[in-house]
Amino acid sequence: NPIIIAEDVHKWYGKFHALQGVSLTVNRGEVVVLMGPSGSGKSTFIRTFNALEEYQKGKIIIDGITLSNDLRNIDAIRKEVGMVFQQFNLFPHLTVLQNITLAPIWVRRWTKAKAQDLAMQLLERVGILEQAHKYPGQLSGGQQQRVAIARALAMQPKIMLFDEPTSALDPEMVREVLDVMRNLAREGMTMVVVTHEVGFAREVADRVILMDSGFLIESGTPDSFFNQP
Ligand code: ADP
Ligand code: ADP
Repeated sequence: NPIIIAEDVHKWYGKFHALQGVSLTVNRGEVVVLMGPSGSGKSTFIRTFNALEEYQKGKIIIDGITLSNDLRNIDAIRKEVGMVFQQFNLFPHLTVLQNITLAPIWVRRWTKAKAQDLAMQLLERVGILEQAHKYPGQLSGGQQQRVAIARALAMQPKIMLFDEPTSALDPEMVREVLDVMRNLAREGMTMVVVTHEVGFAREVADRVILMDSGFLIESGTPDSFFNQP
């Protein structure tokens, strides 16, 4: 029973047809990697899964909830779907701990103590417990991205979306972020990942999808993608 169903999704930016009828079904616990040239619609597509982008035609159902422009559904879906961006998007004037506890306190209405407790567990899990009271600007890119992952996980999502999570990182920091993602995948998180990291796709993905010019043009196992004669 699939947790993401996207059916014939179309998206226009003005006259530009960015998604030209894209369909994808993702099962619980599955890790799907989206690849393809820059501008092919990968980011636009995954952003429709948590209503960061509207779409004009087609159907998206997340964990049984139909994603329409009904605001109530959007709130429900945003609680289920966490997202990590290329540029971290942390709040610079808040500490690491405050970044992570903000949404649980204000959206989930958790007590500060409960939110902080979970945040500390998550920081330990992503390997940066000792940075809890620092500000994002005091951290390396790799550390900031791990904070962003912890912040998304603090909402206890059922699905995690990653939009080129390592593209803004220096090479030596890429691995620490991919390791965190690999562990998440092992723990059974449903993940849709836009990345150019072939190694990650090969080792972690259950399925690799290739997009081009707003179309989904190929879908298969990592083996069928990377081990062709
Ligand atoms: P990818 O993630 O594969 O690089 P994107 O989804 O970011 O591709 O973009 C797909 C296409 O849509 C690109 O041609 C891009 O320029 C265009 N696009 C993205 N966002 C907007 C926007 N807000 N307004 C107009 N065009 C956009
Ligand atoms: P990415 O490929 O990583 O998504 P882009 O450079 O395509 O990054 O887009 C960065 C931001 O600019 C996004 O918010 C996207 O929606 C917006 N954008 C991209 N292309 C256009 C465009 N042609 N017109 C307006 N906004 C755009």
